[in-house]
Amino acid sequence: MKLYNTMSRSIEEFVPIVPGKASMYCCGPTVYNYAHIGNLRTYIFEDLLHRTLERSGLEVCHVMNITDVGHLTGDGDDGEDKMEKSARESGRSVWDIARFYTDAFFSDEKDLRIIRPDIVCKATDHISDMIALIKRLEDGGHTYTAGGNVYFSIDSIDDYGKLARLDLDELKSGARIDIDSNKRNPKDFVLWFTNSKFKDQAMMWDSPWGRGYPGWHIECSAMSMKYLGEHFDIHCGGIDAIPVHHTNEIAQSEAATGHVWVNYWCHGEFLLNDSGKMSKSSGEFLTLSVLKEKGYDPLDYRYFCLSGHYRSQLKFSFEALDHARAARRNLFDKIAQLKSEGEVAKEPGEKAMGYMRAFDEAMENDLSAPQALSQLWLMLKDDIPSSDKLAAAYHMDGILGLGLEGIEASCAETVGGEEERKLLEERSAAKKARDFARADEIRDILLERGFIVRDTPQGPVLEKRV
Ligand code: AMP
Ligand code: ZN
Repeated sequence: MKLYNTMSRSIEEFVPIVPGKASMYCCGPTVYNYAHIGNLRTYIFEDLLHRTLERSGLEVCHVMNITDVGHLTGDGDDGEDKMEKSARESGRSVWDIARFYTDAFFSDEKDLRIIRPDIVCKATDHISDMIALIKRLEDGGHTYTAGGNVYFSIDSIDDYGKLARLDLDELKSGARIDIDSNKRNPKDFVLWFTNSKFKDQAMMWDSPWGRGYPGWHIECSAMSMKYLGEHFDIHCGGIDAIPVHHTNEIAQSEAATGHVWVNYWCHGEFLLNDSGKMSKSSGEFLTLSVLKEKGYDPLDYRYFCLSGHYRSQLKFSFEALDHARAARRNLFDKIAQLKSEGEVAKEPGEKAMGYMRAFDEAMENDLSAPQALSQLWLMLKDDIPSSDKLAAAYHMDGILGLGLEGIEASCAETVGGEEERKLLEERSAAKKARDFARADEIRDILLERGFIVRDTPQGPVLEKRV
């Protein structure tokens, strides 16, 4: 299996620390609001990674945290705790907010058929682990206290910023030191707050430095090391985590242990909307519930994400989602049709096996989902027995996660009847023969019957006109 490692900026062969096992930690949601579909893209990428590692024969231990304290609105320890802000604005307690949005998050994950991580850990359940880690950093001379808060001193280590390849001299000269005058270096960060501008903070705990609450980054170091050990295989997140969150996680983890913490850093690119990166702070953001209200199946969105490589930006539009929906429905129809034709082959023939291998190879080559998906379509269009096609499709779906085995032959979302299918085939033949007048004529006939023809990379499909 090959993976792009942000640390080396190159694609590397994945070699697990413990043969046969893969340990991965993924930064989870901050549960102060619904996850937007950009956040969900990142969790779908991590799900593909999880499934592909398993496919390659590894026993995976996947840990994800739930951030329910300490994540401030600003990346430079400025702003307000996102949970407290959400509680204040909604008139509910922080604990209610956390419970509500954690449940909403897992409901989205279930709808998207994302495999639940083996361990899901909440920051507020691990305060003592964080305090122990901060104590260790303090004993090692990596911290200082100023204005009541405990800070990590980045000058106490010699490789701060290696993941993001930060130019510290440049940063220093350009930094806005006025954000927090307690900081000796503008890139120092808070490990423990006792003295914040929010005196009435609801979430506070006793600590050796006084009653307060942890900074955001320390939770991921403390919890990942608790569950995966002080040296593990893979750490994931969205690319926005590279310059601050992951950079600070590495600094404190490696300062505490004195050795390399994580071998592979894997980051998912952004989902974009018209105005750029989809984000909660920019106001307008789309949730899975909104897509559902508009009549989309959550798996339309999963399919849409599969159509782009996780390291490429993906531009969201409803038109693009419509294409994904049409292709996904077409796929479901094909599977339903195959199911009605017979059994699943126990030992598929060489041709089907060839497609299965090509599919796995694409996924094991830095999760090339679009190439893998194209193997599925090539296989379905090839001249091989239905039972082999079903077996190969189920094998591929072990990673695609579209739930193909659950499709009932009778419940297929068939769009159009036999006549419409024939017309569609006739239209394809006309196009092939460059008889575009006839092709357009058929399109209009179908439109009159209430169907829109959409040409997708997987071939033409029908959609009901609404
Ligand atoms: P948050 O709940 O804000 O901590 O974000 C959860 C995850 O979503 C993190 O791994 C982020 O890096 C990621 N993320 C945030 N915005 C986007 C986006 N527009 N596209 C893809 N991933 C994102
Ligand atoms: Zn994290």
